[in-house]
Amino acid sequence: MTWHAVIGIEVHVQLRTATKMFCSCAIPAEGDLPNSKTCPTCLGLPGALPVPNKAAIEKVLAVGSAIGAAAPATTIWDRKNYFYPDLPKGYQISQLDFPLAAHGSIEVTTSTGTSQVRIRRAHLEEDTARLRHEKGSDGRRSSLIDYNRSGVALLEIVTEPDIRDAETARRYAEELRLLLRTIGAADAEMENGQMRVEANVSIRPSEDAPFGTRTEVKNMNSFRSVEKAIAYEIARQAGILEGGGSVIQETRGWDEGSETTYTMRAKENSHDYRYFPEPDLPPLTITADWLSQIVAAIPEIPSVRRGRYVTQLGLSAYDAAVLVGEPHAAALFEAARSTDATIDVKTLANWVTGEYLRAAHDGAEAPDPAQFAALVGAVSRKDINGTTGKELFAELLNGPFDVRKAIADRGLGQISDQGALRALAAEVLAAHPQAREDWKAGKHQALGFLVGQAMKASKGRGDAAQLGEVIRALLDS
Ligand code: ADP
Ligand code: MG
Ligand code: ZN
Repeated sequence: MTWHAVIGIEVHVQLRTATKMFCSCAIPAEGDLPNSKTCPTCLGLPGALPVPNKAAIEKVLAVGSAIGAAAPATTIWDRKNYFYPDLPKGYQISQLDFPLAAHGSIEVTTSTGTSQVRIRRAHLEEDTARLRHEKGSDGRRSSLIDYNRSGVALLEIVTEPDIRDAETARRYAEELRLLLRTIGAADAEMENGQMRVEANVSIRPSEDAPFGTRTEVKNMNSFRSVEKAIAYEIARQAGILEGGGSVIQETRGWDEGSETTYTMRAKENSHDYRYFPEPDLPPLTITADWLSQIVAAIPEIPSVRRGRYVTQLGLSAYDAAVLVGEPHAAALFEAARSTDATIDVKTLANWVTGEYLRAAHDGAEAPDPAQFAALVGAVSRKDINGTTGKELFAELLNGPFDVRKAIADRGLGQISDQGALRALAAEVLAAHPQAREDWKAGKHQALGFLVGQAMKASKGRGDAAQLGEVIRALLDS
């Protein structure tokens, strides 16, 4: 039997801010002592009052605008109440009815095509503390609480149930991450827990049947796990329904080791949280002026940029995706182009996605864009050959370096003068008389050997294709 999956994704992502959402504590970093980044507000002590973080609000408004969502003229904050030791106040400050962004969409491209995933809402809330469960040497269990993360600004983004397969779900999460990083709203490092993806999954017998009962799967720590967990969950639900059972609405965890999901808890509904407006914070008015300043500062978003690279610059969809997929690569590409408007964009794209990304992957900083453009220009005009270009690129990565001066001073320019090439060819032929005999006896590999010798003699400055022609002409004469 064929089942049709319905998937909706909820993402929580830590915003890139200097301080927490409602106090001025710094954002905790790896290795901080537990409870060292806390104050009366984020510890939930009686009498402490929240003050909203303007930068966090602006980042969410920017994200909203970038996905085509609407911002409310006025919003309020709400208390989401529940009792758990990770929540010192007994409630989390969040937003229920007036999210900072509503009704947007994100374009997602998979191996089978491009589609729009509608975004239902995006709102701001605060993170909770972290619990650590331990068993001491005496065998007694204890739970420790670290409030460093309590009050860190989180953006929650919820899709409509628009996704129909696990690959699209993974690609949606990747595209959202890229968008957030491009805008500078978040770093969204999934392996550091800065971005948490939860998938709501149900299945139904046909595309027009009503939605089935859904489960919510969490604890995936990579994009690959998101795809695997959803695929697993679809198969698990199909097995239940085909065996005559029914799916229970619940929250399930992804177990990385066994690559299966397991029951965590029954699914709570929003009325279980007894939301009510936060009395310690006044309503927030979003003026048109404020919003337009934020919108003006938003850079070109990835889907638009990819489209422009293909239609305006003539890059392949693949090159455009690789370039745009790394904000620092796209930044180098743009910066190099802006220093030399006549640069050959395909050669530039090849150098950014090839040499530069390889070096960046090994930890290299981006090179000076003007020098990089000079280098790529010299290669594309065939002033220097690719091998020389790569050598110069390595030097350019080491710091300040004048590419044009190095080419001139060291005489690196490619030999393209016909007379010089012929002299080089004659020299090599004279040094290897056996090769000429081999060629005459029909051994064609002799030509490749001679070109190799000529390239060596020119210290890599010859043009192999041109040398090949010149040597062949001499052999045949
Ligand atoms: P909750 O309040 O429990 O978080 P929501 O109604 O806000 O529930 O939906 C959460 C997510 O689940 C959304 O992304 C939504 O698109 C998705 N969703 C809702 N119903 C289904 C369903 N039957 N199957 C799959 N996903 C669903
Ligand atoms: Mg939810
Ligand atoms: Zn604090």
